[in-house]
Amino acid sequence: MQKSHPVFSPLIQGYWRMAEWGMTTQQQHTFLKQHVEMGITTVDHAPVYGPDSACERMFGEVLALDSRMRDQIEIVSKCGIYRGEGKTVNHYNSSKAAIIASVDESLSRINTDHLDVLLLHRPDLLMDADDAAEAFAELSAAGKVKHFGVSNFTPTQFELLQSRLDQPLVTNQVEINPVNLQVTEDGTLDQLQRMRVSPMAWSCLAGGRIFTENSEQMTRLRETLAQVMEEIGASSIDQVIFAWVMRLPAKPVPIIGSGNIERVHAAAGALDLSLTHEQWYRIWVASKGHGVA
Ligand code: NAP
Repeated sequence: MQKSHPVFSPLIQGYWRMAEWGMTTQQQHTFLKQHVEMGITTVDHAPVYGPDSACERMFGEVLALDSRMRDQIEIVSKCGIYRGEGKTVNHYNSSKAAIIASVDESLSRINTDHLDVLLLHRPDLLMDADDAAEAFAELSAAGKVKHFGVSNFTPTQFELLQSRLDQPLVTNQVEINPVNLQVTEDGTLDQLQRMRVSPMAWSCLAGGRIFTENSEQMTRLRETLAQVMEEIGASSIDQVIFAWVMRLPAKPVPIIGSGNIERVHAAAGALDLSLTHEQWYRIWVASKGHGVA
């Protein structure tokens, strides 16, 4: 399938859990190819995914196996989280030096000469926006990063960084699912809708908890999702959840987290589904446990 989008595809595959999928490099290559055939061409990575950056490294082995694949996909990776061995404390660092060093390490692990999108993974309270902007300018001039964005930023943090940049931030990658409604309430999605910047939505299925947890909230949600599934002719409640996320007017782009290709197909089917206002709010009410005022 030809690329028809400027920065990222309408659904993204996330590779946070890649090291748990138990696939050989050949199987990972087939998995990636199946995504490209479905038009899911954007992949989401981070240096902190997998022990000792295993996920970026494993993905690099897939690209080494088939170098033509690089031109058919967009690679998102991140920077700024420092944790684990050798650290006295887990912390964030979005200084110019840290950003540039992190990108160089990601490029080497992934076996590529550029990232399509670089995100600052978490807001660093010590971020000097001018300093971060200098890193972006250098990486852009060197052709190492095409576009920049952020993740888990508040609207004011987003605006601060944007105010120092020549090019627009292309996304704020945030958690969006029917269990965690925070970004629908704290202005994050309002800002992105105003700026016509699509958020990337992480953990749309609440990390799988919607299917496995037996709390009152999850039980209510599963019952309502199953009813809506029947009404709209969806094939699974996963599909209904992806459709619920995409119904938001900020136009979130879901990041799938599944290593099961059948579930990826189901997620792609959600692009053809649409929820009415009433159906969307029934899921909201099931999450909250009360109606609107
Ligand atoms: P998710 O879709 O909420 O959760 C995926 C998990 O749910 C997988 O373990 C999957 O297992 C399981 N699952 C899916 N359907 C299921 C079903 N019907 N029954 C039981 N389990 C089911 O997504 P996520 O993995 O948490 O996050 C997606 C991506 O977002 C990550 O890979 C990463 O790229 C990104 N992310 C970003 C941040 C950030 O701070 N920027 C944070 C977290 C995640 P199977 O593999 O067996 O299907």
